Amino acid sequence: MEASLNKGTSDADAPGAVIAEIAEELRFADYRGKVADYIPPLAAVPDTKFGIAVVMADGAVHTAGDAEEAFSIQSISKVFALTLALGAVGDQLWSRVGREPSGSAFNSIVQLETEHGIPRNPFINAGAIVVTDVLLGRLEPREAIGQMLRFVRELAGDDGIVIDEVVAAAESETGFRNRALANYMRAFGNIHGDVERVLGTYFHFCALAMSCRQLALAGRYLMNGGISHGHRVINERRARRINALMMSCGHYDNSGDFAYRIGLPGKSGVGGGILAVAPGTASIAVWSPGLNQSGNSHLGQLALERLVQRTGWSVFEPRSL
Ligand code: GLN
Repeated sequence: MEASLNKGTSDADAPGAVIAEIAEELRFADYRGKVADYIPPLAAVPDTKFGIAVVMADGAVHTAGDAEEAFSIQSISKVFALTLALGAVGDQLWSRVGREPSGSAFNSIVQLETEHGIPRNPFINAGAIVVTDVLLGRLEPREAIGQMLRFVRELAGDDGIVIDEVVAAAESETGFRNRALANYMRAFGNIHGDVERVLGTYFHFCALAMSCRQLALAGRYLMNGGISHGHRVINERRARRINALMMSCGHYDNSGDFAYRIGLPGKSGVGGGILAVAPGTASIAVWSPGLNQSGNSHLGQLALERLVQRTGWSVFEPRSL
């Protein structure tokens, strides 16, 4: 009975009111997780920030908290990079990257040795570095970065989105693990291009700066079976499949728990953002910089958990009830 009481059916429970309530509840949360410090500019972001934006299938946008403030989307860019790479080479991509959850940290190298340089999925660092290499099979780094920027601007319908060059440079300076991953995969023949060019491009993707509003708008194509504000971005099957990967792999070694608690396709980044998709219903972006042990936003997950409890948006919610 409790579950049905929590379901949002009345006006008082409309998404705008629900997220305002959640933002208010989490504003003064004592435990906020730990802000990433291995990329210096990220360490400077106050852990008091909290924003959330929900874009509904009918186009209505609801926001609460710091939803208009741009943050570093980091690994959320892996969703957009995957979408572009599938557009460029289609299913051939899957000969170079898997589709299984890794059960390991986002920057782990351990599986690459026994699995011959083939990363488990496109949403861990190794996988996204391969995806970037695939994009560079046809483009120069400058073109690939330009294509990515145009893509997210188009998806969000917002030309104000930029790449934070300070973050990109800091990532390069501290990117020892990513360099190890890329070189290791190069040794297995699964990185074809020059490692520094691949990494430079990857770091620029990670350094995209977007607000919750922009990110939730950019996620519309995943909510709408591949269509974003009237334009077909990808076909329906591909949208379904990207959502499946987000559900199974979007939170690294914390993906099972995210599916258990929230039940939505989602992708996190170490900047503290999460893009989550309720197919057919809503595209949701939340941002709180403090992270849990797996590098996912602590309060972001809590906010999404409360949102699905109060709206019934989990994909595991029986639709007929
Ligand atoms: N740019 C970050 C890195 O490569 C992305 C990691 C993340 O967001 N989980 O380490």
